[in-house]
Amino acid sequence: MSIPLASLRQLSVSYRADGAARAALEAVDLDILSGERLAIIGESGSGKSTLALALAGLLPDTARQTGEIAWPGFSGPPRAGRDIGFVFQDPGASLNPVLSIGEQIAEVARRHLGLGWRDAWQKAHDLLVRVRIPQPHAALAAYPHQLSGGQRQRVVIASAIAAGPRLLIADEPTSALDMVVQAEIVALLDGLVREDGMTLIFITHDIALASGFADRLAVFSEARLVESGPTAGVLAQPAEDYTRRLIASHIDLTTPPLIAGTAP
Ligand code: ADP
Ligand code: MG
Repeated sequence: MSIPLASLRQLSVSYRADGAARAALEAVDLDILSGERLAIIGESGSGKSTLALALAGLLPDTARQTGEIAWPGFSGPPRAGRDIGFVFQDPGASLNPVLSIGEQIAEVARRHLGLGWRDAWQKAHDLLVRVRIPQPHAALAAYPHQLSGGQRQRVVIASAIAAGPRLLIADEPTSALDMVVQAEIVALLDGLVREDGMTLIFITHDIALASGFADRLAVFSEARLVESGPTAGVLAQPAEDYTRRLIASHIDLTTPPLIAGTAP
């Protein structure tokens, strides 16, 4: 965990809209450590997705970025899709409705790993097994609309890891799913990143969900990183009022305690 995988220094991003520039990130300093599971927390509009897009080099043309993103953990700039895998909130939007699941995953393996169709298809099958899709053979031939939301998100995760990325960015991957499926998807991501030694950036507005498995929390509010640190430390002694309010807003939820053993 010694050299960071990525290092953000004074990263600022603003979007041009209606002739005015609006700040989405302001002077963010943050290291992403190799092999960690980092949760990015914050309410809607706090800049979380902007951070994910900036990391992947996928900001739209209307965005202006200043400051630095260095990648000391990579030999060259990482490529989105190959070195950085993405899982977004809505699995429907990430999948092509007219291609079978097998075609979609195999295409990623073909493009990034240079596999022939036969090997790519086998790889797609093995990935469906890894993401625990029931009846993987049948699922290869299925189309996205034939699967449940949770299964579609498993397929998106399989595509995201198909090229063997070192960094997986999951941006609100469970927000569109019910609570039971949410927990299953989080457990799946957690297991996959452990098995492959990937680094995970898990973006969520739900501090309770994140604190169940993240090593570190980075809390954003209104475009700024307001605090970051090991999960247990941030929960036990939040440095910022904003974080305290986020934690307090979860006390009476029916979800399990934030971290087993730290509840009073
Ligand atoms: P979050 O993911 O935390 O909800 P975002 O990064 O999506 O936050 O958005 C941060 C701010 O930037 C918000 O005020 C949002 O309206 C604005 N924003 C995001 N994307 C764009 C865009 N493409 N064009 C203009 N403004 C945007
Ligand atoms: Mg977002």
